[in-house]
Amino acid sequence: MTRVLLLGGTGDALKIARRLAPRDVYSLAGLGKVPDDLPCAVRVGGFGGSEGMARFIKDEGIGLVIDATHPYAAQISANAVHASGAARVPCWALRRAAWQPQAGDDWRRVGHWRELADALAPFRRPLFTLGREPLAHLDEIPAHQFWFVRCLESHADTPRARILAARGPFTLEGERALFALQGFDVVVSKNSGGSATEAKLDVARERGLPVVMLRRPPLPEVDREFDSVAGLLDALNGRNVSSA
Ligand code: NAP
Repeated sequence: MTRVLLLGGTGDALKIARRLAPRDVYSLAGLGKVPDDLPCAVRVGGFGGSEGMARFIKDEGIGLVIDATHPYAAQISANAVHASGAARVPCWALRRAAWQPQAGDDWRRVGHWRELADALAPFRRPLFTLGREPLAHLDEIPAHQFWFVRCLESHADTPRARILAARGPFTLEGERALFALQGFDVVVSKNSGGSATEAKLDVARERGLPVVMLRRPPLPEVDREFDSVAGLLDALNGRNVSSA
């Protein structure tokens, strides 16, 4: 039976990991919580680039790599394709569909931090939901702005920024209450797709707020691409891999 290496760190990856078998391996970078209730093996930390991952695939007798990492984790996705190619095993990927703007939405798409900072210039109370990147720019906050940064990392507040360590999913009611309390005038987001963190876009729409959206990075082609956990699990079962 094929032994699976699942690259994760997302809620969808965790759903797949819960359906794997003891001989399969779920791999995490080690930034977040490490689950201790999975039926498969769990490994934590980088492989040491694509060469390290290729070595792991060969040494561990992996027969299929599944990339279910976040759409903005472009390095590990590129490594997965190179490593599986070098080790001559197939690479599948779960690629969540991106969110699409709805009628009346005011999305301002940006490609990198400088463009993002420029797009925020007219605003005073941005909500950042981009992960930890804003923490590296806390000393660049323009005089007219106060930042609210929601990310996984804990970090002390500053006189010019409130940092909230929080992990999704976030409910519509919770987001409504947060927006009302904090008086955000713009939302800054990655286009993560999925439902776990989508409520902020619903509330931005309700309140007529613009969204500064960081574009998705390009991702490499894989042998098979899936847009749902269910579709990927069906294909896994069809292959009679060890998780079947
Ligand atoms: P990245 O830039 O694509 O990867 C950086 C390095 O971290 C990789 O080269 C690899 O180190 C290691 N790594 C990443 N994911 C790994 C995994 N699943 N197993 C083993 N090593 C891994 O990734 P990132 O954007 O920092 O994200 C790190 C992790 O957080 C990812 O697993 C991703 O699914 C999750 N995540 C990311 C975001 C986001 O917005 N980027 C959001 C939610 C969750 P080596 O080169 O040493 O192997």
